Amino acid sequence: MGRPKSTKKALDSYTVKGTHKVVKAGDTVLMRASDSEKPPYVAKIEKIEADARNNVKVHVRWYYRPEESVGGRRQFHGAKELFLSDHYDIQSADTIEGKCIVHTFKNYTKLESVGADDYFCRFEYKAATGGFTPDRVAVYCKCEMPYNPDDLMVQCESCKDWFHPTCMNLSPDQVKKMESFFCPDCDTQNEEKKPKVIHKASPPSEVKTETKRRKR
Ligand SMILES: [Zn+2]
Ligand SMILES: [Zn+2]
Repeated sequence: MGRPKSTKKALDSYTVKGTHKVVKAGDTVLMRASDSEKPPYVAKIEKIEADARNNVKVHVRWYYRPEESVGGRRQFHGAKELFLSDHYDIQSADTIEGKCIVHTFKNYTKLESVGADDYFCRFEYKAATGGFTPDRVAVYCKCEMPYNPDDLMVQCESCKDWFHPTCMNLSPDQVKKMESFFCPDCDTQNEEKKPKVIHKASPPSEVKTETKRRKR
């Protein structure tokens, strides 16, 4: 016969050891990894409770780092990227180091500066299958990669797609100096369009004839 469950007491908050930082359910926290060489784990607190001996336990939902996922870290993963996993756990509150912020992808890209405690999450991750939600994301550039917020990208003024300067054989400095950028595809199209501009300058009747002829 075990102890009756009623000896566990739900707590509204917990003060991180050696600090004045108060954490609550819903907060994201950094938790000391058992291997001190490794960066701290990131978790979302679901529930805090104390047992009869006043040991505080936290019910957590883990965030995974890209390197902890089945596919590993890929080129488009940001340095501060995390995946919200379906892996739940109960941990000693002693391992909590402090709070951190897991931003939405959109909010993260709008941050003026990224602090040590800023992270972002755009995927949910199923630990058992290695599956991601969403399983498709928008891709950009010639390399057809999802956006890595750590990488500089430049937008083409014509097609509005975004490009990596390196994929266009340009240096970041060259791109920053540009007043406008046209990707190679749009650049050639613009050249082909030049005769059309001349037609527009011609008398209206001629333009009409030209349009009709093209349609046939
Ligand atoms: Zn690219
Ligand atoms: Zn373009």
